[in-house]
Amino acid sequence: MIEKAVRILRRGGVVAFPTETVYGLGARVFDESAIRKVFKVKGRPGDNPLIVHISDMKQLELVAGSVPDRAKRLIKHFWPGPLTLVFHKKKSVPDLVTAGLPTVAVRMPNHAVAKRMIRLLGEPVAAPSANISGRPSATTFESARQELEGKADMILKGEPSRYGLESTVVDCTVSPFRLLRPGSVTLEQLNKIVKVRPMASKAKGAQKSPGLKHKHYQPNCEVLPLSGAEWKKGLIKLIKAGKKIGVLSLKAPVPKDPHIVFSEKFRGRESQYAKKLYSSFYRAEKEHVDVLAVQSTGKTGLGLAIMDRITRAGGKA
Ligand code: AMP
Ligand code: MG
Repeated sequence: MIEKAVRILRRGGVVAFPTETVYGLGARVFDESAIRKVFKVKGRPGDNPLIVHISDMKQLELVAGSVPDRAKRLIKHFWPGPLTLVFHKKKSVPDLVTAGLPTVAVRMPNHAVAKRMIRLLGEPVAAPSANISGRPSATTFESARQELEGKADMILKGEPSRYGLESTVVDCTVSPFRLLRPGSVTLEQLNKIVKVRPMASKAKGAQKSPGLKHKHYQPNCEVLPLSGAEWKKGLIKLIKAGKKIGVLSLKAPVPKDPHIVFSEKFRGRESQYAKKLYSSFYRAEKEHVDVLAVQSTGKTGLGLAIMDRITRAGGKA
């Protein structure tokens, strides 16, 4: 199957494939018409750049200009893995890939299928998440199929993504480095290796990382974050309003009530919350809930990424 995917990529096709973060929709990075197809299939705005996926350090040289020593230390610690680094780009990288930016975002995935596909192809693959633009990222084969069946030239099968959130993005073209998007590699982990500043305010961040300004991660039901303190009252209000409710609880108790049609309880484990977040969004759609009540986390560790996704899924950021 992977060999077939590589043949399709070589012919200018687009292939959805599993990674450890979320499923990606890939095309050969140097094939402009294939890249155009990625944007078209997803309905992705042209000013939202793609992440370039590589399988070895030689491929980094094909797309990135100079790589600072501090970035090499991050690479040593976190690659292959859920960390994307932004560098000055090589001229050969089509402007379409970087949405006209002079920089390129690069990641080396740690997933057997993704690695093998890129290695066999022998060149980098540009890939955004395998979902229609603005919708939750696909983290399971079923979600990728729901979003892209008949649109992508092939969808490679894999297990549910291990992390379930998009990669952490760090800008390595500024000093100190800056976090552009929180993800499964936490700011605390990064700062143990090199100094990385927290995300800039929304306005500045949107300039630097254009994708941040678009609608993102939204299922076709309301996503309502509730803190532990608001939890009980918030759920009772929804029940009284006669809403059909789905619930994602980090650790708050979930009342038994016929209005609550499904609940996921993560027993205090943020990694499970992250992993199941988007598949729960897809489930909420299938169950036709009106509101998905999601428990807020703290904003440290993995909580920073979870809060980023649930506030944006709720349309509040
Ligand atoms: P997605 O593939 O949907 O996870 O989105 C990729 C995200 O990576 C974009 O929305 C940007 O926020 C970020 N990104 C990609 N390329 C760059 C770049 N050259 N500079 C800054 N951020 C980038
Ligand atoms: Mg995406």
